[in-house]
Amino acid sequence: WVLKSCFSGTSLKCSISTSLTTTRKPCPEVEGLQFGTVFTDHMLLVKWSRDGGWERPRIQPFGDLSLHPACSALHYALQLFEGLKAYRGEDDRVRLFRPALNMRRMLRSASRLCMPSFDGAELLECIRKLVALDQEWVPRSASGSLYIRPTFVGTEISLGVKKPSSALLFVILSPVGSYFSTGARPVSLWADTTYIRAWRGGTGDYKIGGNYGSSICAQHEAVERGCQQVLWLYGDDQQITEVGTMNVFLYWISEEGEEELATPPLDGIILPGITRQSILELAHDWGDFKVAERCLTMAHLCQALEDGRVKEMFGAGTACVVCPISRVLYQGKDLQIPCEGNFPPLASRFLRELTDIQVGVWHAYTHTRS
Ligand code: PMP
Repeated sequence: WVLKSCFSGTSLKCSISTSLTTTRKPCPEVEGLQFGTVFTDHMLLVKWSRDGGWERPRIQPFGDLSLHPACSALHYALQLFEGLKAYRGEDDRVRLFRPALNMRRMLRSASRLCMPSFDGAELLECIRKLVALDQEWVPRSASGSLYIRPTFVGTEISLGVKKPSSALLFVILSPVGSYFSTGARPVSLWADTTYIRAWRGGTGDYKIGGNYGSSICAQHEAVERGCQQVLWLYGDDQQITEVGTMNVFLYWISEEGEEELATPPLDGIILPGITRQSILELAHDWGDFKVAERCLTMAHLCQALEDGRVKEMFGAGTACVVCPISRVLYQGKDLQIPCEGNFPPLASRFLRELTDIQVGVWHAYTHTRS
């Protein structure tokens, strides 16, 4: 496994060193597990330094990291991460869902934070090896999966604000059940302009830790107001951008009278979700309705609700695949979003198709996309 450093120009051609745990933990039942609280037996670590390039990747027993108190990740949020899942099929094989796209997005985040580059295909090989080692942790239950969290942090020992001269890439694995504690039920959203998640020229379209820490108080306020997630708005025209940590889709009859599946375009304030991309590609392939990446505002939504033109609204992301939206609290009023049977037809169709692909049920789609 090789991790190349574009900074030092070195390429370390070496195999992973593996040190196995002597005390394997029992794998828990995923039902009732709180997201991201239980971890498998091993983790992957790769160190980088400007002078030495990438070190040999190491798989070792899961455990604490030792970090200098002045390291840049702890002071200036030099941190980025990815989130993807391994699924177990009925054939008992374990599969990752479009992991190359996560590697590409991770490299993009690394570049935004002036962190060193690496070979995404080679990191993916390391991840596959880690998952293979801990494969017993991939749940056998249909609602469960193994969440994979590649993380990359600056370890420069300096309080100076600068590009790090050392960094640590690590990958941890966590078995998960259903993301939402309420189960597969539709969510309610708080739509307000008090907090802004992302802006042009900012970092909202990158998967970096700083974006998430700063979103927690809005999430808290949403819960205080009786909602489950935040509907993130942007700009004077209150553009609908994302839902919590999901991309957002509106299935409606557009102003032009067309049946349309719409989602905001990747114009610098939207996280380019892998689920989003997959939904757009599936919908294009089906050709059953118009698919549009277009600006959607609260005014568009309110008018469409008044006219009875909204069919469904849902969030999309790795954690839940798709999550129907049933209510939006906006300017003190509850907007009721049509949500037939708690999991309306189009959201159900995407959930079924994507879940089939994830667990390896044959589908034409898997033969046309990587
Ligand atoms: N938006 C945000 C802000 C997110 O954190 C995520 C989760 N990565 C998504 C959208 C969905 O992305 P994906 O489909 O790749 O999980």
